[in-house]
Amino acid sequence: MTVLERLEAIYAIGQHRAGYSAEEDAAHELAAGWMREAGLEVSRDEAGTLFGKRGDARVWAGSHLDSVPTAGKFDGALGVVAAIEAASRLPDAPLAAVAFRAEETGPMSSKRLTEFPAAYLEVHIEQGPVLAGLGEPLGVVTAIAGQARGFKVLEGRADHAGTTPMGARADALVAAAKFVLHVRECAREGTVATVGAIECEPNATNVVPAKVTVSVDARSADAALLDKLIDEIDFEVNWRSDPVPMGDAFAAVLPDAPRLVSGAGHDAMFVPNSSMLFVRSLNGGVSHHPDELSSEEDIALAVDALTAALARLAS
Ligand SMILES: [Zn+2]
Repeated sequence: MTVLERLEAIYAIGQHRAGYSAEEDAAHELAAGWMREAGLEVSRDEAGTLFGKRGDARVWAGSHLDSVPTAGKFDGALGVVAAIEAASRLPDAPLAAVAFRAEETGPMSSKRLTEFPAAYLEVHIEQGPVLAGLGEPLGVVTAIAGQARGFKVLEGRADHAGTTPMGARADALVAAAKFVLHVRECAREGTVATVGAIECEPNATNVVPAKVTVSVDARSADAALLDKLIDEIDFEVNWRSDPVPMGDAFAAVLPDAPRLVSGAGHDAMFVPNSSMLFVRSLNGGVSHHPDELSSEEDIALAVDALTAALARLAS
């Protein structure tokens, strides 16, 4: 079976393969069969991570097989299928193909590894429009962005929407509107920031809003820029993660490929000695959506690069 036929077979199990569901189990079973066909010895750890190993496997490649409810065919599955294909092309190389569990809702198994590789290689669809904009099929990931998530509360005063003159109001939603624009202005080169959720009280048509809570999601691959962004936006941080630099396993075989940052989290954040390769997303970079797409040609180039990188590291 070709890489694309395998992606179709995984998608046919179900568009939504939630972590530790019967659908994810079935995808792991399918992958385990392909691992055996590739001459790999199948095992699982306590968190359910699936390994297909050959020999003293200190170099790993893989990704995840779970998916979001609105998923396309490529996010996660591409990295697993590419790893198995690359392993089958290197019949003498000691290596492992790996399928993690519940990446989309965790990650839950890459975080719980009990053994660690000397190198971990993950091929992933870009999930954005940068490579398509550059006209490039592949991009080497330099870092996974750090994130800060939290909220801002804007207080006003509830008043009658008909009897309170405009100059006598303390409208929390108007203040929130200004804050949303402020968030956008704070995110400049090397950072992104988003208000994606909003709660308005009392949320009534004829009452001046008294209290508004807005979410903030701020990201950067540079820890200093992220701290500066948090200060400038000025919000309550609930959760923060540091940027994770990626290794140069793909840069070594693709010296001229463009470099880019991953704005999304991946299993590679939690596996030591990770390197990531992005494959161009078509359809405007849409992801977590059935229109998510990479071309057969671009995927073939990614599998070639993964094979070359594995051959270099496993020898
Ligand atoms: Zn993914």
